[in-house]
Amino acid sequence: MLRLLATEQQAGRLQLHPVLVLSTAEGLPPAERDRLERVFGAAVREVYGCTESGYAAYGCAQGWLHLLEDWVIVEPVDAGHNPVPPGTVSHTVLMTNLANRVQPIIRYDVGDRVLVRPDPCPCGDPAPAIRVQGRASDVLTFPAAGGRGVVTVPPLALATVVDRTPGVELFQIVQTAPTSLSVRLRPDPGADPDRIGAAVEEGIAALLANLGLAHVTVDPAPDPPEQTTGGKYRTVIPLPPAPPSS
Ligand SMILES: [Zn+2]
Repeated sequence: MLRLLATEQQAGRLQLHPVLVLSTAEGLPPAERDRLERVFGAAVREVYGCTESGYAAYGCAQGWLHLLEDWVIVEPVDAGHNPVPPGTVSHTVLMTNLANRVQPIIRYDVGDRVLVRPDPCPCGDPAPAIRVQGRASDVLTFPAAGGRGVVTVPPLALATVVDRTPGVELFQIVQTAPTSLSVRLRPDPGADPDRIGAAVEEGIAALLANLGLAHVTVDPAPDPPEQTTGGKYRTVIPLPPAPPSS
């Protein structure tokens, strides 16, 4: 959304003068960050979090994310959920929300790979500084309806739709062709797989239609979600880039 607004501003169709631009959920490539700063004439910072934690960390001028330690506990861990030391990229991260007393979230496995800075951040902020990996690569890209340009969909948007559907234990959305998605589902024990599958596909189709992507098809996959060789379940798997044409 931010990148779309920047493009509109660049084209002269928007006249926004923000003091600060905050980017959530999706990692910004450095070139995009530079473009946003240039186009909006404002500092661009990132915030990090998930639905379960709310904001967990905020970006500093050095490009690190500093933890909100009175709000969340963030534990970078290996595949066996053992702590990994600072300076090591974790397998996943366990998030505990200290502020939500209505629905306790304790050591929730977020699935992000994070690295905790082993030394003090040069920005002077004493809060632990982290970097998050492994999200930006899962952004889906579709050809736009008129055949001109592309539309990108962040993995979080799709995952949120499925997370809201009751009865889903595990899911994986796979882009099988430029305009085709296939949904692998593992329903909760005792849940009706056909009913849940239909609800999930309907939710995804509605989201896509909202984004002008009604031409993208959503079908059930015959196979269950697959693990990577590292034992991780990716919730969204984009189409691999096409080999360069000769
Ligand atoms: Zn910093």
